[in-house]
Amino acid sequence: MNAPVNDGAPPRPTFKDMINSVVDAGACSECGACVVVCPHGIIEMIGRKPGKRVGSLGDHDHCGVSTGIGCDACAAVCPRLWPREPHLREATFGEAEAGGDRGFEGIFGVYRHIFVARARDPQALARGQDGGVVTALLAWARETDAIDGAIVAAVGEGDAPCFPTPKVVTTPEQIRASAGSWYTYSPNPLALKPLKKAKVERAAFVGVPCQVTPLRKMERIDTTRLLRAGKSPTVHGRQRDCMRGPSERVAISIGLFCSEVFVPELMTEHVAQTMGIPLDRITKLNIKGEVLIHTRDGAVATIPLAQAAHDYQRPECRHCGDFAAELADISCGGVGTDRATVVVLRTERGVDLWREFEASGRVEVWPIQEHKKAWNILQRLARKQREQIAPPTAGAYGTAPAPVQYCAAEEAVRARQALILAGCSDAEIDERLHALRGVREGAPAAAALGPAHPIPGDPGEPAPDEKRKLPPPPAPHEGGASPGPAAGAGFARWTK
Ligand SMILES: Cc1cc2nc3c(=O)[nH]c(=O)nc-3n(C[C@H](O)[C@H](O)[C@H](O)COP(=O)(O)OP(=O)(O)OC[C@H]3O[C@@H](n4cnc5c(N)ncnc54)[C@H](O)[C@@H]3O)c2cc1C
Ligand code: SF4
Ligand code: SF4
Ligand code: SF4
Repeated sequence: MNAPVNDGAPPRPTFKDMINSVVDAGACSECGACVVVCPHGIIEMIGRKPGKRVGSLGDHDHCGVSTGIGCDACAAVCPRLWPREPHLREATFGEAEAGGDRGFEGIFGVYRHIFVARARDPQALARGQDGGVVTALLAWARETDAIDGAIVAAVGEGDAPCFPTPKVVTTPEQIRASAGSWYTYSPNPLALKPLKKAKVERAAFVGVPCQVTPLRKMERIDTTRLLRAGKSPTVHGRQRDCMRGPSERVAISIGLFCSEVFVPELMTEHVAQTMGIPLDRITKLNIKGEVLIHTRDGAVATIPLAQAAHDYQRPECRHCGDFAAELADISCGGVGTDRATVVVLRTERGVDLWREFEASGRVEVWPIQEHKKAWNILQRLARKQREQIAPPTAGAYGTAPAPVQYCAAEEAVRARQALILAGCSDAEIDERLHALRGVREGAPAAAALGPAHPIPGDPGEPAPDEKRKLPPPPAPHEGGASPGPAAGAGFARWTK
């Protein structure tokens, strides 16, 4: 399922592929994105996994729409199917920003700036997981109307203690109440669906990498793959709106570094029963070499990380190749820091938002060279996670050839050719393309956009008998520092 093909006919996984090689194979991340985009209500989350609606006919891996009029929007956005993160680099950072500064690229993805930050907002810092940066940024963005809501994971009224669920929040108070990380899975993409009802049109999306990838796929996978000769423009339009629509309500994505989550039994069995800590007494969990359990009385209990990982790591996470949320606009993590957040600004829109945030005076920043430990751990963990999955191409990083890239323009050409072969007239083709609004036919070929710069001083791939050397943390003028404050940096232009 991961094998990239570059013969002009990129793989187009189907519903059947998704059920067989993702869900039944134990690789499903439980993100829920397939359910969110399903235009015909065929699938729903059954327990924690997607499946056909109860009572629907046919085999569990058969969707009549997929084999009949054609669809497969579900498989198009699934983070476990091709294209995976390294194959979406051009679609995310190339076409989106053609002609712009391409930034740098390391094993943790494309970046424009990487640095360390801490919120000055006392509430965000006190409740936040690391530097409280995600929460402070969201709260400021909502207060200034840069966003009109956010998708977060929080333990709210009605949730079991320590078990977060996805939430759409629309006030700074709700945002601040969602600070902190929980290490059981919350399928945040499911909250994309209620955005419309909540009248949120410029949301910030917070999620772990396996949730940011489907969001980026909703935005970037070309909807021409939905085209079929016999399908009406109305159905084309509906399928297009379901596949693309949720991403059109998101103004910015904030990805969280992530190497694993735990199964619920870590909390219900080990913490509650074996350790005897009532879950409703827990105020915060953190992982810093060990699992730290903070309780209301100020005590901190610990579980050795190796034990927690061995006994309670969610097995689905072993199919994950993205530690650093490579396709997010902004990625944040807490590796090697103390009450501070490592911030990676990846896209131009991420840079613009950050510069305005920094101009508010609500955050302090340090160059990554002052946090070499954080940089080194990030390199190691990103490589370890990448190596969990089949390589994008042999030796895809360093000086070796880049992975094959997903190309929307190729996909559109292929779809048009199929309609011509099926005997559609030019007028019919135009009508169907029109129904897909937002088709980017004629977009520049990905290869023409060129690669990002390697990390300055990166020693590259080691010789077979050599130990791998890590690249040095970049200097401030080479992307190793915040871009600096700039009120009115232009974030609003991305949300029009
Ligand atoms: C499941 C998980 C695993 C992680 N693993 C690592 C790791 O291995 N290494 C590392 O450096 N960093 C990891 N992080 C990121 C880290 O815990 C912090 O979220 C990050 O450093 C930002 O800190 P902050 O203080 O700026 O964020 P905060 O201001 O505290 O904001 C945290 C945000 O995370 C959201 N959130 C909380 N729980 C979840 C959840 N279960 N799923 C999705 N979103 C959630 C909240 O809604 C909030 O918006 C992980 C985060 C999660 C959620
Ligand atoms: S193929 Fe389309 S209709 Fe069938 S389950 Fe997937 S998204 Fe739903
Ligand atoms: S989209 Fe998400 S929930 Fe659906 S099969 Fe893929 S990983 Fe699982
Ligand atoms: S390790 Fe990967 S699959 Fe597991 S929760 Fe994190 S991002 Fe998702």
